[in-house]
Amino acid sequence: MTLDPECIFCKIIEGQIPAEIIYRNDNVLAFNDLNPQAPTHILIIPTLHAENAAAVAALSPTIIAAMHRAADEIATEKGLTGYRTVFNTGADAGQSVFHAHLHLLGGRVLAWPPG
Ligand code: AMP
Repeated sequence: MTLDPECIFCKIIEGQIPAEIIYRNDNVLAFNDLNPQAPTHILIIPTLHAENAAAVAALSPTIIAAMHRAADEIATEKGLTGYRTVFNTGADAGQSVFHAHLHLLGGRVLAWPPG
């Protein structure tokens, strides 16, 4: 497992900064977003450092799959009747943390198209 000591999400993986962790296995960690945009807003991250989803996919398709499986398990556990999963890639798409993370949003009706 390769982590970046300067990365905020790597610090969460290592327990150096707190987070409301709700799911963990060897490949992924999930925790509540600090600034939720829906009643359920959870971030699912790989437990290795990669800057975006494409980089994770290049390293390990298994981990990308594990992130999506975790999202569905969490959504089921929370009884969500619908949910949205989003990877923002690049600053123009709103990415602000450059450790890949899958947003899981639900708990309200979600508008389309997104902003
Ligand atoms: P993005 O803008 O797609 O890169 O998403 C980054 C997300 O990380 C935002 O929704 C932030 O609210 C969230 N975030 C940043 N720092 C933390 C933190 N320490 N704990 C939980 N969520 C965080």
